[in-house]
Amino acid sequence: MGPGPSDVSPRVLEALGRPTIGHLDPSFIDLMDDCKRLLQYAFQTKNALTIPISAPGSAGMEACFVNLLAPGDKAIVCQNGVFGGRMKENVERIGATAVMVEDDWGQPVDVAKVEETLKAHPDAKVLAFVHAETSTGVRSDAAALCQLAQQHDCLSIVDTVTSLGGIELIVDAWGADAVYSGTQKCLSCVPGISPVTFSAKAVDAINARTHKVQSWFLDMQLVMGYWGSGDKKRAYHHTAPVNAMYALHESLLILEEEGLDALHARHRLNHNALVAGLAAMGLEMLVDEDYRLPQLNSVVIPNGTDDAAVRATLLNDYQLEIGAGLGTLAGKVWRIGLMGHASNRKNVLLCLDALENTLKAQGVNINEGAVAAAMTVYSDAR
Ligand SMILES: *Cc1c(COP(=O)(O)O)cnc(C)c1O
Repeated sequence: MGPGPSDVSPRVLEALGRPTIGHLDPSFIDLMDDCKRLLQYAFQTKNALTIPISAPGSAGMEACFVNLLAPGDKAIVCQNGVFGGRMKENVERIGATAVMVEDDWGQPVDVAKVEETLKAHPDAKVLAFVHAETSTGVRSDAAALCQLAQQHDCLSIVDTVTSLGGIELIVDAWGADAVYSGTQKCLSCVPGISPVTFSAKAVDAINARTHKVQSWFLDMQLVMGYWGSGDKKRAYHHTAPVNAMYALHESLLILEEEGLDALHARHRLNHNALVAGLAAMGLEMLVDEDYRLPQLNSVVIPNGTDDAAVRATLLNDYQLEIGAGLGTLAGKVWRIGLMGHASNRKNVLLCLDALENTLKAQGVNINEGAVAAAMTVYSDAR
């Protein structure tokens, strides 16, 4: 129950163990095509260029930046946690300029501030932001930000590593241009793959480049040749991690079987039960209710608590991992993940019980009754 990797379902682990076949074998190519179709459903897009990159979420991030920016370009980058900082780093390593829009950690990206910045920098090519900030548990208004980018003739780059499969994400309706995600958060797949999707406008921008993409491995023109464009003729670029793709395919089938509406409702219900239990103990959430991510819950550590000792007890006595705070939030919050397969009642109740026992044993002043409060939420939902 940390910030990822989340628990991988037995079905996905079983898929991972299937015999490895050639990456240009016709049946593997069918599986690649089916992964594209399933990713289009997960992202809610008809974008033809919707594929899994053979590397973790960070590579998806880098793929978006290196393909849409060239040296001398300008990008507006929103930062309200750890991952916006990595976006800035990507922009600068390309030799482009990052204009930062900064918000406090625990707050969403301020849409009005972004609009002012877009007006002040009409030459900006890209607007980049994180939809679901895993370092804080905040959701930003992706629909509004993508719309602003369109109005100001910018391409949007959206980090959906933690949002895909956890909360509403509608790439086409929002008009997002370059969107990347990861397999190890709400898809509950093994780490190491990054689903991406590019709009027709983004693909046009890539095809119109005059400056070679600085990364050979992440050059989407080459990657597109490998993943094919319908005619099944594929050029060898790299060897796809065949077994990891079996796992991704299985995790996407599970997502399709449950359906996005049911999936989102499950994440919300387990989040509500967890929050009710934490509130019963007298613990507070970092993030305002309106912006909370159901899949990543930042809990304020009560005064006088030994952060590391609590996490060590949970791990050693309950085999339960929760995340520590990062950056300015280190020692101030715990990050409890309820992602994908791990978003279930058993985990919520185990976590509340373990936390209540551990805090009491440490002499922290909390109230009892966390599990009962969570159970009330479950029975009311029936
Ligand atoms: C986890 C994460 C990443 C990086 O993904 P990796 O698979 O660790 O490379 C990027 N952005 C966000 C918001 C994340 O939560």
